[in-house]
Amino acid sequence: MHETALTQNLINIACRALEGKGVTKVNSVTLCVGALSGVLYDAMEFAFDAMKQGTVLETADLDFEELPVTARCRDCAYEYNPVGFPYICPVCGGRYFEIIGGEEVYIKNIDCIGDDDVVTD
Ligand SMILES: [Zn+2]
Repeated sequence: MHETALTQNLINIACRALEGKGVTKVNSVTLCVGALSGVLYDAMEFAFDAMKQGTVLETADLDFEELPVTARCRDCAYEYNPVGFPYICPVCGGRYFEIIGGEEVYIKNIDCIGDDDVVTD
């Protein structure tokens, strides 16, 4: 995972979402990060602190919310959050699955002053 490029991307998205909204101060940006995304929180926070300078996000903290892995059983289509390996369907015991969640990274919420909270997704 390239935290620098990813962080720049997220900052661009956040700044665009806040544009023209009369926001004077941003308290925090909450990111949803899939457990399989490979994002290193420390590296991302570091990149965010460096890149937010000079933007409307200058005063913002970065918060993380981890999203669990979601798998869908290939046999019965049941969707579940596997815990550890191997992934086994709790309904039919099937061992074949596809990953349908846990790899995503997106902004969940931007907490700011000057407007209602901005949700980008
Ligand atoms: Zn199943």
